[in-house]
Parts: sequence; structure tokens; C-alpha cells
Amino acid sequence: MAAKPIIIAVDDEPQVLNAVYRDLRQHFRDEYRILRAGSGTEALETLRQLKQRNDPVALFLSDQRMPGMSGTEFLTEARQLYPEARKVLLTAYADTEAAITSINTIGLDHYLRKPWDPPEQNLYPVLDDLLSDWLATVPLPYDGIRVAGTLWSASSHAVKDFLARNQIPYEWLDIEQNADARKLVEEVNKTTPGLPVVFFPDGQTLVDPDHRLLAERAGLKTEASQPFYDIIIVGGGPAGLGAAVYGASEGLRTLMIEKEAAGGQAGTSSRIENYLGFPKGLSGADLARRAATQAVRLGAELLTAQEVVKVRADDPYRYVTLKGGQELGCKALIIATGVSVRELPITGVRELTGAGIYYGATLTEAANYRGRHVLVVGGANSAGQAAMFFARYAEKVSILVRAGSLDAGMSTYLVDQIAGTANIAVLPHAEVTAVQGTDRLEAVTYMNTITGESTIVPTPAMFIFIGAEPHTELVAGIVERNPSGFILTGQNLIRDGKRPKGWAKRRDPFLLETSVPGIFAAGDAREGSTKRVAQAVGEGAVCVTFIHQYLKEV
Ligand SMILES: Cc1cc2nc3c(=O)[nH]c(=O)nc-3n(C[C@H](O)[C@H](O)[C@H](O)COP(=O)(O)OP(=O)(O)OC[C@H]3O[C@@H](n4cnc5c(N)ncnc54)[C@H](O)[C@@H]3O)c2cc1C
Repeated sequence: MAAKPIIIAVDDEPQVLNAVYRDLRQHFRDEYRILRAGSGTEALETLRQLKQRNDPVALFLSDQRMPGMSGTEFLTEARQLYPEARKVLLTAYADTEAAITSINTIGLDHYLRKPWDPPEQNLYPVLDDLLSDWLATVPLPYDGIRVAGTLWSASSHAVKDFLARNQIPYEWLDIEQNADARKLVEEVNKTTPGLPVVFFPDGQTLVDPDHRLLAERAGLKTEASQPFYDIIIVGGGPAGLGAAVYGASEGLRTLMIEKEAAGGQAGTSSRIENYLGFPKGLSGADLARRAATQAVRLGAELLTAQEVVKVRADDPYRYVTLKGGQELGCKALIIATGVSVRELPITGVRELTGAGIYYGATLTEAANYRGRHVLVVGGANSAGQAAMFFARYAEKVSILVRAGSLDAGMSTYLVDQIAGTANIAVLPHAEVTAVQGTDRLEAVTYMNTITGESTIVPTPAMFIFIGAEPHTELVAGIVERNPSGFILTGQNLIRDGKRPKGWAKRRDPFLLETSVPGIFAAGDAREGSTKRVAQAVGEGAVCVTFIHQYLKEV
């Protein structure tokens, strides 16, 4: 619910202040919050706090005669903070001249003579008129989370991306463009330096927060409600969400633990066109939101911004250790930790990541490059989708691909869409060799690997999609992985007809079971997976089927 606009009364005489407060409440309390202050200084302090919370102030009603700071002096200062609020002075007969001067100097809206009795005649009509004018002309401020920082700061980007991927609405305040926001940030930075500053509607602020803190303050669930579950799923991408939906719907106590945002890689996709049941495609964010809602509705518990760092088996139970040290137990465990994009190993790239260089399709950034020339590096579907998406905003999108064409790595439908999009250029045999820029990306150099010719492209943004590495360190030394780190499951574990080392069951590992019974793997982190949303979702669901069979054995 939007915060009520505020009327603030200021007077140094307690009796007068109480009387004006009482009369204001009498008439306005349903629509406005009435605040009072015993001096201009006190009122200004309150206003600064209100400003930080982005609370709307509609009207100041101040006595002119106050020791220390007069009414006009207060209104002069107050108007810096709330230029649109209506300003009314309470005056004695002798103050008339000061009031008239204030009409010209500070845009005083009205002055009232003390006493104002009866208020129905001398107070309410004037204020009603001013307030209805204020309501009609001043838009109510945004009353959700606000993130203030610079476009080019990697930490500002990380905070925005985290909020967006977790479907938490926020307002972005660029302090290089918005003087009001800059002042707010300077105030906070006096005690805690750093960017971005996150302002919450209850007045709290966080400076450059980590995901965990941000998630907690934003109201996401970060703590497990029980120490033990039937199934724990590590990773909240399509595979984890698939497992959560099926696990919970089949009556198993199910916990899914996700270190960033539900949706995983798919959640960052601008448009998934090949997922069953969505003929026009759907955005990854939409898929993530629908699946997470469905899992919770069916009874699964989803933790966000919690990372599992270790896994152990202590028969018959399986345990996960969270980054903070907490251990949670379960009967069966699913590893659905997916993969993350490979880094481009070029000097300067790491420093500029988030400041013009991005891994994956950071949808939140696309609109910032409206009318500019941006680069996409990579030749797989993810690169193609990103190029199509950015082409809606950018003046031109160039795809740098190592191969001779896009055909080798991309689905035909995307190759065709790209060919039919006038502002996308494909640069084949192109390899990025250098990046330029100090605080932000300014240009990229690439080499044609056939001719050896180098080209410098001035650009504010480069989006990189060059393959992936599995997130499987948490099971290192516990379950068998291949040399690239992908988890082996099912028949891939059988070598020369032999079951994996230490395997104690009188059966082969189930299709998606790892070398440790009761620990399953699903999705991109598994050796042999096809790196598709539908497959990941299906594998998550299939794990649950095998878990039922496994649970009959223990
Ligand atoms: C930009 C982009 C576009 C794509 N478009 C398509 C498409 O159109 N069609 C298609 O079929 N496929 C597409 N894909 C591929 C598809 O998204 C993946 O195959 C799919 O997301 C894999 O799902 P997953 O659950 O196995 O892994 P991920 O989606 O990688 O999810 C794994 C999750 O586990 C979390 N995690 C990792 N380690 C831990 C830990 N230790 N503790 C807690 N959590 C952890 C991660 O934060 C992540 O959220 C696209 C991929 C990308 C990047």
C-alpha cells in the first residue's frame, strides 16, 4: 500500500502546536499522516529522514515567529528537500509583511492569521484547496526499494541483477544524472562509504550489500524451517525447480537451496522458444517466476541466497553444509547446480566486468545501451537470443564468432531470425584480443583468425557467451566426476562392466544416480546432459521417481 502523504506542523509553543495538530488530525487524518515538530531544526531533521524513505510530504504549516529559526527560514530550507510541498505560514498581525515578502522569495502558498478558529472556516478550506492542487500535480513517489549508484559500477550492476532475477521490483537512481539521489547517497556515505546504496521503504539502508543480506532485507526466504527433509535439492535452475515441483507434489518434504536466484541460467534468457506449451516462447524470468510459485504452492521450501559448499554421506542420510556453516540433512539429495559461463581470459576483462562487459544476457542492462553499438561474443543459442534481444534497443549489434558462420553452433530458427534482422551483423573468424577503457568499457579489439587483421570497435558494451563450466566443487571427492568436472550418473559409472568404487548396492546406479547411492544429479551439471531447459526440468522430475525407488531400499 502506498504511504499516506504527510502534513507537517511546526511551532515552538507547545499549546499552539498541539492545537494545530489536533485540528489537522480532525480533518485530514484519513488521507494524510500528520507530523509535528517543536522547531525548524527538528522539522528539518524529520524531513531528511522522510526523504531517505522517499515518503511524500504534501504540506508544511509553520509558525513564523520561532526562536533560532523563523518560519520563513525553515520553509526556505524545507523547500530544498521537498520543492513541490505546499507552504503555509501561521502569522501574527505584525508578521504580515514578512509573509507577503515570502510569497515572492520562497513561493509561499498562503499565510494564515492566528488564531484560526473556527478551523472549518479559516483553516480547512485553504488547506483543502492547496492539498487538492498538490495531489493533482505532484506524482506520488515510488514507495518500493530504491537502488542508487552509477551505471558503470560493477557492484551496482550486481545488486540490480540480483533484485531483478529474484523478481523484486526496484527503482534505479543514477547518481550521475539525479542530483536528489546524489544528495541522499552522500548523506549515507558520511557514515558508510560505498556504492550502491539500497534504500528500503522502512527507512533502512544497505551499502554495497552481499546477496544474503539483500535477500533477507528484501523479504526472501533464506533460512530453512527444519533441520531434516526427505529431499534436498541444491540449485534452483530448471532442473532444481522441476525436482521441487515433483517432489513436493508427491508429498515429500522438499527443500531447494539456491545461491542466487531461482531460474538459474534459464532465468537470464530473454526468450525461450523451444519449451513445451509456450508457442510464442516465454522469458526466462517468467518461467522462473511461474515454476517457483508452483513449487511453493505445492509445499516445497525454497531458500534463496544460500550456497551449499559441501556434501557428505553418513548412511542412511545425506547432508549439505551451507556457506555459513549450518548443516541440513535429508534422505536423498539432488545436485542440480548447473554450469556458469566461462570467463574470457583477456587482460582488463575482469576489471571491466559489470562496467560494460557482461557474462550472459543481462537483461537489466539492455535499455542502457539504447541507440548504441554493442557486441555479443559467442556462437551458441544463448548468444543468438541475446543478439535478437539487444537488437530491439541497440542501434547495431555485432556478433563475434570464432567459427566461419553461426550454423555450427546455433539452432536454425535463430540463425534465420538473425539473418532477417537488419541491425545485427555477424563477424565470423573473430577472436577478441584486447579491451580498452579504465572505469568503463570504451572499445574492443578483435582479430580475424584467417587474415590476422586486427580491428578496434568503439563500444560501451560487450556481452560474452563462450561456454560453460560445471558448479560441482561441492561434491569433489564425494561423487565421481569426469575430468571437466561434470558429474557421472547411471550407466556412465559402469566401466568394463564394473560398478563404481565403493558402491554397496546389489543393483546398478539408477539412471540419474551418482556414484553414491541416494545422491542424484540432474541438468547441465551432469555428464551427457543436452543443456536444454526441457531436459533439465525432465531430469529433475525423473530424479524424484528414482528417489521413491531408492527410499524403498533404506
Ligand atoms: C542466456 C541463455 C539462454 C538459454 N536459452 C535456452 C533456450 O532457449 N532453450 C533451452 O532449452 N535452453 C536454453 N538455455 C540453456 C538452459 O538455460 C540450461 O540448459 C538450463 O538452465 C539448465 O538448467 P539447470 O537447472 O541444470 O542449471 P542452471 O540453470 O545452471 O541452474 C543451476 C542453479 O544452481 C545454482 N547453484 C550452483 N551452485 C550452487 C551451490 N553450491 N549452492 C546453491 N545453489 C547453487 C545456480 O545459482 C543456478 O541458479 C539457455 C542458457 C542461457 C545462459
